[in-house]
Amino acid sequence: MQDCTFCKIITGEIPGEILHKDNKVVVFKDINPQGPVHILIVPTKHIESILDLTPEDNEIMGELIYRAKLMAEKLGVSEKGFRLVINTGKNARQAIYHIHAHLIGGRKMTWPPG
Ligand code: 5GP
Ligand code: ZN
Repeated sequence: MQDCTFCKIITGEIPGEILHKDNKVVVFKDINPQGPVHILIVPTKHIESILDLTPEDNEIMGELIYRAKLMAEKLGVSEKGFRLVINTGKNARQAIYHIHAHLIGGRKMTWPPG
């Protein structure tokens, strides 16, 4: 998709610190980390937000969550725990309209989120 930052990172048009890539899901470091571990887990398919999902995307979203588990283990945050967040729309301050899950860990968090 033209003018989508995450599509450009996926195709290599703009740089990203990519930690994993397969045909369904890409993982790269967030440019502005909110914890010792802050990665983004992103489907290779351009889907703007959760509100645009169709049943066809169930497999992709399943892969995304499963990849989060594998990355949490790989990055050493599975034992102490981590947060997996998908911001959706204005009130949640979604900034990039290409679905992505934030995996944040390595520190103790507060609840409710800000
Ligand atoms: P959102 O608010 O849409 O859930 O989060 C977007 C996230 O993307 C933010 O945490 C922001 O730091 C990150 N981000 C924005 N632009 C870039 C970029 O060019 N490269 C990387 N690696 N992360 C980005
Ligand atoms: Zn995109």
